[in-house]
Amino acid sequence: MTNHAETEHVPPQVDGSAHGSVTVAPMDEYNTALVSHTHPPDWVNPVPSGRYNLVVIGAGTAGLVVAAGAAGLGAKVALVERHLLGGDCLNYGCVPSKALIRSTKAMAEIRDASALGVQATGPAQVDFGKVMQRMRRLRSSIAPHDSAVRFRDLGIDVFLGEGKFTGSDTAEVAGMALRFARAVIATGARAAAPPIPGLAEAGYLTNETVFSLTELPSRLAVIGAGPIGCELAQVFARLGAKVHLIESEKQIMPREDADAAKIVEASLKRDGVTIVCGGKAARVSCDGQEKVISLDCNGAAHELRVDAILVGVGRSPNVEGMGLETAGVEFDKRTGIKVNDFLQTTNKRIYAAGDVCFPYKFTHTADAMARIVIGNALFFGRSRTSRLVIPWATYTDPEVAQVGLNEREAAERGVAIDTIRVDMNRVDRAILDGEEEGFLKVHVKKGKDTIVGATLVARRGGDTISEITLAMSKGIGLGKIASVIHPYPTQAEVIKRAADAYNRTRLTPFVKKLLSKLLAWRR
Ligand SMILES: Cc1cc2nc3c(=O)[nH]c(=O)nc-3n(C[C@H](O)[C@H](O)[C@H](O)COP(=O)(O)OP(=O)(O)OC[C@H]3O[C@@H](n4cnc5c(N)ncnc54)[C@H](O)[C@@H]3O)c2cc1C
Repeated sequence: MTNHAETEHVPPQVDGSAHGSVTVAPMDEYNTALVSHTHPPDWVNPVPSGRYNLVVIGAGTAGLVVAAGAAGLGAKVALVERHLLGGDCLNYGCVPSKALIRSTKAMAEIRDASALGVQATGPAQVDFGKVMQRMRRLRSSIAPHDSAVRFRDLGIDVFLGEGKFTGSDTAEVAGMALRFARAVIATGARAAAPPIPGLAEAGYLTNETVFSLTELPSRLAVIGAGPIGCELAQVFARLGAKVHLIESEKQIMPREDADAAKIVEASLKRDGVTIVCGGKAARVSCDGQEKVISLDCNGAAHELRVDAILVGVGRSPNVEGMGLETAGVEFDKRTGIKVNDFLQTTNKRIYAAGDVCFPYKFTHTADAMARIVIGNALFFGRSRTSRLVIPWATYTDPEVAQVGLNEREAAERGVAIDTIRVDMNRVDRAILDGEEEGFLKVHVKKGKDTIVGATLVARRGGDTISEITLAMSKGIGLGKIASVIHPYPTQAEVIKRAADAYNRTRLTPFVKKLLSKLLAWRR
């Protein structure tokens, strides 16, 4: 029996103590430290006193940012968390996944070094145990920022336990009643469970269990080729697993630009990932230690035998068992809490923020919504989510970064656009780095210098996209970026190249004729 089989499908463990203690496998020194910050076993809940300005349920990014911001402005705040402060991002999401991506990038660098004239002495070796231990160490080193003690020291009443509404202006946690003027639901989301017969019985990994692995599964099926599925498929392939990535749509990363998805697909294939698009897992069964997936690929039946299955088919909002009906908060089990543009729920006292209510499920959007909620809930603010310019990135190699609309979305919304495209193989630094794969597409409103979106596929695309986000947020046209000096040689010059290309499109034959007449006169 392998360790990974033992850690599969282990829900967060909660014992019978006052607020329940939590373990994160494996309970080594790093996970012990993680838990000591984010769910201290000896934590004593405070005794609520009087009415709170704000009760925040859920202490992931959204809840922590709301609580810290409101307390900093002098509000009396209660923060309720049933599991680990820091939520998905710190414990089961961005932080552990990006730590693993860093190790696997090193692996790929060594693998590809001979193209740079550098010969490693032998094939690169991965020590899976050390890679995972590094991730756990770094995660626990970041944890103090989200710790219960830190938030208590900010003057916040931190309650560990399940939060539940008991009325339109009351909630309870661990048997204690909390009265509030305003409340925020920030309970996040969890991995959606696909209704595949036999899957639950066979056992599967999700983002809540995959980072607890202590042994590399030699054959891994990843169901769902969205951002989480693609990032982790590449990670596990580079770590040495034989990975099959199964996607029911006809392209991987179905929400993204189709050209971007093609580049990532080629990269995954180079890493040895077998991609099955248009394939549905029809059922799963067990044969001894093996998990057998019966696949329906466009009508043709296939069988896949693996050691572990990782599911990444989307996120289900955490809305159950919270007394939402009692509080008069409308919700949908698939899309989450119903909010208006100001993040107010159908109970005017209660707001929501983060994955529980928003289709763009990212840490930075949870943070942005939290800031909106502080102003709107406590200070008569009227900030709207529809005004947010939202970037995001998938941290595959190369990365796919997006802000605003892509071509397909623009067409769906009837927004007529002009597109400027610059391929990375036209950017000197990308050529010198051996990272020419990728492109930048910037979409402007047809006939106008208003950026409506951009897609950047590049090794550090997630870092570089921010310049376009800034331009969009502040209403700076693409043409203006041409006059911004970019250091040479950098990959970010791709944006200036796009700006130059855009300005050339504005040089109509009439303007060109005028200019040459002027220059002839000045000779
Ligand atoms: C594998 C993976 C990788 C990711 N990578 C990135 C990335 O690189 N960049 C990025 O921007 N985003 C990434 N994300 C998404 C990001 O993690 C989430 O968007 C973000 O954590 C959402 O924050 P949140 O506060 O809305 O919810 P969460 O972080 O989910 O926090 C919600 C909290 O509420 C608690 N809770 C739920 N119900 C109750 C209750 N009744 N009482 C008390 N507490 C409750 C939960 O225990 C949890 O701690 C990734 C996600 C995953 C899964």
